[in-house]
Amino acid sequence: MEPAYFDHSATTPLHEKALAAMLPYFDRDFGNPSSVHRWGQQADAALLDAYQATASLLGCEPDSLTFTSGASESNNLGLVGLALARRKQQGQTRLVSTPVEHPSVLNTLRWLEAEHGFALDLLPVDEFGRVDPEQLRATLSERTALVSIIYANNEVGSINPVSQLGEICRAAQVPFHSDATQATSFLPMEIADLNVDLLSLGAHKFYGPKGVGMLYVRPGLDLEHLFHGGSQGRGIKPGTENVPLIAGMVAALELAFAERVPLAARLSAWRDRIIHTILDTVPGSRLTGHPTQRLPNHASFVFDGIESNALLAALDLQGFACSAGSACKVGDPEPSRVLTAMGLSREWALGSLRVSLGRSNTSEQVDRFCSLLPEIVARLRHITSPAGQP
Ligand SMILES: *Cc1c(COP(=O)(O)O)cnc(C)c1O
Repeated sequence: MEPAYFDHSATTPLHEKALAAMLPYFDRDFGNPSSVHRWGQQADAALLDAYQATASLLGCEPDSLTFTSGASESNNLGLVGLALARRKQQGQTRLVSTPVEHPSVLNTLRWLEAEHGFALDLLPVDEFGRVDPEQLRATLSERTALVSIIYANNEVGSINPVSQLGEICRAAQVPFHSDATQATSFLPMEIADLNVDLLSLGAHKFYGPKGVGMLYVRPGLDLEHLFHGGSQGRGIKPGTENVPLIAGMVAALELAFAERVPLAARLSAWRDRIIHTILDTVPGSRLTGHPTQRLPNHASFVFDGIESNALLAALDLQGFACSAGSACKVGDPEPSRVLTAMGLSREWALGSLRVSLGRSNTSEQVDRFCSLLPEIVARLRHITSPAGQP
């Protein structure tokens, strides 16, 4: 039996066309885009094409984009750079975010608080992990330096009303950042509609290569530069551009946008089949995240009396690669802070499972998963509690 990869929220396989787009820049077209000669000109032309293609997909100016080494770096460069600039220019020291952000956002903001004298306000989230726009509105003040709210949650798949949240920030003249890394393949990404001032994304979540991402910065918004060097990457990310990875990311982005509607339709039908089957056939199971306002490829659960790692190991033996919810907390026995922020008890939160589907999955894999999971959960509960009392 071929194993089934159900962990596309952790990373996706490289699209073969993204690989093909990268290869020439690893050998034949190796030039430095800053060089004057023909090798340099050719690399520079590839880079210009990448800026232009990305800008036309996102509906923004090419010079509002910076290529980075991934979404984590985009989040760091954007948030720290903006916070320092706002404090210097306007004396603002309050940061607003949520407890369900990716660690590359939350830990960056916590570092600004612990080491740089900023104050961090975390908005509460509802039982689905979503932000209430009215609560955001009430939290903003002339002291607020920035707001950062995730577009679609990596652990529980819930989608925030980013466009509405951005409108509220704009009315209060507070810059708004969103981490759109999970959203890129599936959700609207027109900058103008999202009302964002900064946007982060990372290629390996949409079938591009690892180690490359992007930061959008609204023209006119100043960032303090954290790295210092040449003028590459708008000065935000100096250093010779990684032309092969950038070419691979842009090819993957074009493919993702072209496939978005049919892929979302196919995967959301399977997602719903998984959700309904599990909730109907596994006693002591709950969906985490919003029932409908969620990523089309994403199903996530908690199981009473189950320990995530035991479940993942049992699923792996049956050929299914799933996750507990976040690839960033392997070996960490603490319950997910995202799940506890949504009001789940520690007991329930320790039994989480995330199933994230992708391009190469099949209906047969989904069927087999749906028929096996109830037995696996029952068996694990029997092992830990032979009397049948979870
Ligand atoms: C994966 C992910 C990141 C980090 O991406 P890297 O490319 O590994 O730096 C950031 N935010 C979200 C929401 C993610 O899913």
